[in-house]
Amino acid sequence: MKHQPIVILGAGCAGLAAGMRLTKRGYPVTLLERADHVGGLAGGVRINSNTYEYGPHTFHTTDPEILNDITTLMGDALVPYNRTIKIKFLDNYFKFPLSMRDVLLKLPLPTVIHAGLSFLWHFSIGTIWRPKVETSETVLRRYYGNVLYELFFKTYITAVWGITPAEFSPAFARERIPRMNILELLDKIRLGAQNRLNRSVKTDGYVEKVEGNLYTTRQGFSLITQRMGEQVIKQGGTIELNATVTRIRRNDNRVHTIEYVQDGTTKRIECRGVINTLPINEAIMMIEPIPEDDVVQAARALKFRALVFVGLLVRKERVLPSSFMYFRQHSFNRISDLAQFGFEIIPAGCTLLVAEISCDVTDRVWNDDDLAKQAVLDDLIEEKLLTREEVIEMHVFRAQHAYPIYTLHYEQHLARLLRFFDQLANGETAGRQGRFAYINTHIAMKMGYEAAERLMQKLEKS
Ligand SMILES: Cc1cc2nc3c(=O)[nH]c(=O)nc-3n(C[C@H](O)[C@H](O)[C@H](O)COP(=O)(O)OP(=O)(O)OC[C@H]3O[C@@H](n4cnc5c(N)ncnc54)[C@H](O)[C@@H]3O)c2cc1C
Repeated sequence: MKHQPIVILGAGCAGLAAGMRLTKRGYPVTLLERADHVGGLAGGVRINSNTYEYGPHTFHTTDPEILNDITTLMGDALVPYNRTIKIKFLDNYFKFPLSMRDVLLKLPLPTVIHAGLSFLWHFSIGTIWRPKVETSETVLRRYYGNVLYELFFKTYITAVWGITPAEFSPAFARERIPRMNILELLDKIRLGAQNRLNRSVKTDGYVEKVEGNLYTTRQGFSLITQRMGEQVIKQGGTIELNATVTRIRRNDNRVHTIEYVQDGTTKRIECRGVINTLPINEAIMMIEPIPEDDVVQAARALKFRALVFVGLLVRKERVLPSSFMYFRQHSFNRISDLAQFGFEIIPAGCTLLVAEISCDVTDRVWNDDDLAKQAVLDDLIEEKLLTREEVIEMHVFRAQHAYPIYTLHYEQHLARLLRFFDQLANGETAGRQGRFAYINTHIAMKMGYEAAERLMQKLEKS
């Protein structure tokens, strides 16, 4: 049995990190990845001469172990990047996270006064009283006051996610939406005084903040995941690409075989252990015999939001006034200008734009490339950011599991699924999809390491 591999399902950041840790400790490891390349959401898509990214992705962390591992792996290839974000709103550009200065200078005076009073009211009330049922709406009102919440967040969140902030768990606002910059600053001073900056980060309930320096490479984040894959192989692991996992077979609480389809053929691997990084609800549905009813019900309750990406190669050195821009009245909610990330773009003098259209897989835009391209092009022309003639190529690519949707009470369903994996004698689950967590790459990697450590402990016991 010891010669059987540990099978890792998925070769995104979490799966690759788990593979790096296990192979370093001498375990035989096989990664099964559905795509024809590693990296998952961080792996980008190679089209003609360029790599279009989902996002794009930048690397940042204050966790010393992850930072050390990635900087060692990448050496000089890692280049610093200066992120600039603008929100187009009321015909004005606002910086994000919202700054007090922008709010004061760019909103009409009566709105500023109203917003200021509302912020002070909600902020003060929030220090002494909390509602019985917290939602993202109650949290955002506390962070920003009702006026700014209604102006900047309510309609935007509803458009992007398809549900209102009142239908979100408070965890969504707490973990993902930065507070007004002055409040963040106070937080940093407090953490600094407690000497809690630059300590090893915890993955449970991690609150995502862009801290530490930002990095990318001239080929984008995909070069980082490519090197992680090479490291797994160098340390003796195997990566099977174009390998779609379909079944996870078990006897009671022990997984013994993974089934997958590669080149139209169903294949099986007997395994000593398994680390899942696939969407946790989908992995549960692959388990045979099928888990108990309440586990299946919990799996059905978790939902993901999808993204359709439209990538454009544009004959212009740069198109946007910042590296990212957010819009509220267009087909896409966010767009990025890859030349501003220092990417090498072919031909020279051009840039790549990536527009993100959030949707459900039942929406027409999910399956209709022409609709997506036309809508994005029309909106960019309307914004006077480019002309039709400047566009050399347009491509559509997709991410079905872009965002876990933290609906109200999702925590209970997720806890049930995590308990199921905890009870497996030789199984673990990790990563953004595997733990249904709205986290960035560094936390997905850390989760991969942690799952590898927990699995090694389980295997030693059995
Ligand atoms: C638009 C966007 C922008 C982002 N920007 C940043 C950023 O700037 N910085 C940052 O740090 N993070 C960013 N993130 C978050 C980051 O992408 C994720 O945290 C990280 O990539 C998650 O890695 P993972 O391995 O957990 O999941 P994934 O990357 O989703 O990996 C899961 C893997 O499983 C594979 N898979 C799925 N089903 C099967 C199957 N049945 N059989 C075999 N394989 C399968 C998938 O192909 C995939 O490779 C962004 C995310 C999005 C959506």
